[in-house]
Amino acid sequence: MKYFSAFASRLFASVLLCCASGLATAAESGATYEAPLPVQLSTDPDLCAYVPCKDVIPGADSFSKRMGKPAYVEAYANTSDSDDAPETDGAKASADENGRKLIGYVFLSTDIVDIPAYSGKPVVTLIGMDTKGTITGVRVLRHSEPILLLGIPESELTKFIKQYVGKFVGSKIEVGAGRPDQGVLGLDAITGATVTVIAQNQVVLRSGVQIAKQVGIIKPTIRPQAKFKQAEGNRDWNTLVDEGSVEHLRVETADVGMPRSREPYIDMYFGYLNAPGVGRSILGDAVYEGLMSRLKPGEHAIFVVANGIESFKGSGFVRGGIYDRVQVAQDMDTFTFRDLDYLNLYAIRADGAPSFRESAIFIVRSPTFSAAYPWHLVFLGNKMDPQTGVRTFANFNQKYWLPARHLEGGRPEIVEPEATWVTVWKTRKTEVILFVLWLAAAGTVYALRDKLVRRATYKDRRWKDVPKLLLWLTSIGFVGFYLLAVPSITQVLTWFHAILFEWRWELFLSDPFIFLFWIFIIVTVFFWGRGMFCGWMCPYGSLSEIVYKLSGKLGLKRFQRHLLPQRWHDRLKWVKYGVFAVLLAVSFYSMGMAEKMAEVEPFKTTFLVGVWNRTWPFVTFWLLLLLASMFFERPFCKYLCPLGAALAVPSTFRWWGLKRKKECGPCAACAVGCGSQAIDPSGRIDQRECLLCLDCQVLYYDDHACPPLAQERKRRTKAGEPLTPIGANGYFIPITPAAATVAPAAAVRQSAPAWIGQEVFDHLFPWSRKVFQQPILLQATTFALTILVTWVWVLGAAGRIGPGIVLGWWSAWSVYELVVRMRCKPYVKDGPWWGRNLRPASWADMAAYVTFKNLLIAATLFLIMKGTGVLDYLSDVPGLEWLY
Ligand code: SF4
Ligand code: SF4
Repeated sequence: MKYFSAFASRLFASVLLCCASGLATAAESGATYEAPLPVQLSTDPDLCAYVPCKDVIPGADSFSKRMGKPAYVEAYANTSDSDDAPETDGAKASADENGRKLIGYVFLSTDIVDIPAYSGKPVVTLIGMDTKGTITGVRVLRHSEPILLLGIPESELTKFIKQYVGKFVGSKIEVGAGRPDQGVLGLDAITGATVTVIAQNQVVLRSGVQIAKQVGIIKPTIRPQAKFKQAEGNRDWNTLVDEGSVEHLRVETADVGMPRSREPYIDMYFGYLNAPGVGRSILGDAVYEGLMSRLKPGEHAIFVVANGIESFKGSGFVRGGIYDRVQVAQDMDTFTFRDLDYLNLYAIRADGAPSFRESAIFIVRSPTFSAAYPWHLVFLGNKMDPQTGVRTFANFNQKYWLPARHLEGGRPEIVEPEATWVTVWKTRKTEVILFVLWLAAAGTVYALRDKLVRRATYKDRRWKDVPKLLLWLTSIGFVGFYLLAVPSITQVLTWFHAILFEWRWELFLSDPFIFLFWIFIIVTVFFWGRGMFCGWMCPYGSLSEIVYKLSGKLGLKRFQRHLLPQRWHDRLKWVKYGVFAVLLAVSFYSMGMAEKMAEVEPFKTTFLVGVWNRTWPFVTFWLLLLLASMFFERPFCKYLCPLGAALAVPSTFRWWGLKRKKECGPCAACAVGCGSQAIDPSGRIDQRECLLCLDCQVLYYDDHACPPLAQERKRRTKAGEPLTPIGANGYFIPITPAAATVAPAAAVRQSAPAWIGQEVFDHLFPWSRKVFQQPILLQATTFALTILVTWVWVLGAAGRIGPGIVLGWWSAWSVYELVVRMRCKPYVKDGPWWGRNLRPASWADMAAYVTFKNLLIAATLFLIMKGTGVLDYLSDVPGLEWLY
């Protein structure tokens, strides 16, 4: 016993030490991870006062203020001593009267594009380009990619972006192998960070091309002009909106990091006026003809009307300046508006048009714009990060494509650029197919478990063990090391936040393997419990199990402790739930910090980065776990893994459990062989701890190993009775068919409304009738608390109070509900959620039920309220500041 306690305390002390040192090291290595940037960075005219412009354009010694739309700065070299003046690719720009020569341009990616990377946030990048459009330097100023913080060294990103230096910004550049025959240049990707580098490629190229076009390095694309059909009578407002002649762009206050409000941040409608069918309907015939007579060939009129708390014209607009909140974009070309491009729009003539606070007609004066092709109206804004208060550039845009009915010959054929996640899925098509087949194979094998365990015996378990071993090996090799598709607690935290605050499909779709794996995991956890993933498919769990088995075969068997003493196990198994709870709580304070702490998972060290690429704290921690795995069966899974804990909570409600007999309690033969120590003295299996090794199921059917079956077999043999097959209930099928029993009375079927009523009552009302027999003061306090908690949640959903406060109240309520339920309704469901099988609940069962149920209720209500727009009407509800 002393040995175990000393070992356990040393192991956990080392773990804590390693985590602490690991965090310190990680914090040092992630130099640009969530690096604080000056708040003036996105607004101050003197960009180079805040960022190292000289680093990205060698030879430059002075820089202009921000200019242009989108913004860039000019880089100059002093030519007073002309021999020393650098030349850029032989470009000889003439020097100005101060002896300065323009040698290139510097720009900040977030001034130009708003392309999120894997974290959902953009990588803030400083780019330098010479006067011929050759990239002279790229520097990442800030990123939020967790994989580059603790998974892949940040130097890999630096190495990646260095590949752009010396390349022409207008070249076709793709991540992966180049295709010289098609003029496509290739870039070496960063293994394990595909999404980040694909997004970064778009960031560098799109920003570069936009600036190169603006300064005249790249000539604008000339598109064939549209030929319009004559109007067939004027249309009303709703028809114009329905057919897409008028488009709608709405930005909510929450989209720019402000508290939710009933009024949108901006709610714009816009359309293309040159097309007679649109222009005449919107302006009326006389105004339309007047407008057209003012336009020169190649000029285009666009109307914009808006409501909301923000103005699209901008309060800081000065005469002669540029409207800096709206622009039109067509492919890589952007069109901005000066005051001369603005005309008053006094009224909308289309019947049924609502009234608007702001209106304008903007003229695009460029023959390169063509109404025959799609374009976007872009609203440029600043988005505030509610956690840090940092403002970043954000653009919101809406596509517009003139309906075919206005165009002679209809819309032209075009190939639209695909979303980043589509590119990723296409690039890895073969692997995606193989991975889906692997998932399907795993699901099928487990679904056939009854057949496999019946064929196996307790002495020879190959029918069950061989398929499992194959899954383990493929999981380690193909899924872990090759695909790097290792589910992690950080993904659970991201899902958690996304469900509660903002769901973005692109974010989850950007890694096909993780996306598919999680769908599989969620489904199988509810079908069979966490054991399907943990016991059969987790790359690290599989590795740990193989290390244990291999060590035994290599002579360590006599030192191996299959199991910890039950007393120790029963205490230590809670540690993983504690780790998960701490990570979850910290994630509400800072996702970055939670991601660092999630390094308690050795997955990155094992698969994503490789142990040889890590610093000593990570290596020590990893080695300790490996060492422990050689002597104990899955120590990390049983006691430390936060992901295992997160999956264990919903496993309480798995629909299909394992088979048991009434003798399982006193017999305990299965419990002795259970590597997960998941079988309690009454023979009940704890689904949260069971890793579905299926040993107990082999025993269940084995008439030589299962004591009640063995007894019956011996009895029959002695009595000369035949050995009939073993039935699904785990007993020999009776020799004489059981006497026909009286058919049980058909269960009284509940009507659907009664069933729904009972379910709603059970889940939302934790009290029993006993509550009404308590003192009136206690009843009043109980109900006041209920209303307060609900109110706090509503305030949280409306963005009026921070997630930390909501989480605090949510946890407090969950503890209260847990206690109440254990007194009033001490049972949870067993089996499918639609059934009514109830079983007595342990505290752990009830805690899992309450936590999970409250999370689901909160998320469902949030989504319904968001979807129906109710959230927007909560801005005026009393804030109850005294509560927090
Ligand atoms: S407990 Fe953790 S490491 Fe173990 S199998 Fe499950 S997820 Fe993998
Ligand atoms: S022996 Fe049975 S209860 Fe124990 S882990 Fe295996 S399947 Fe689960």
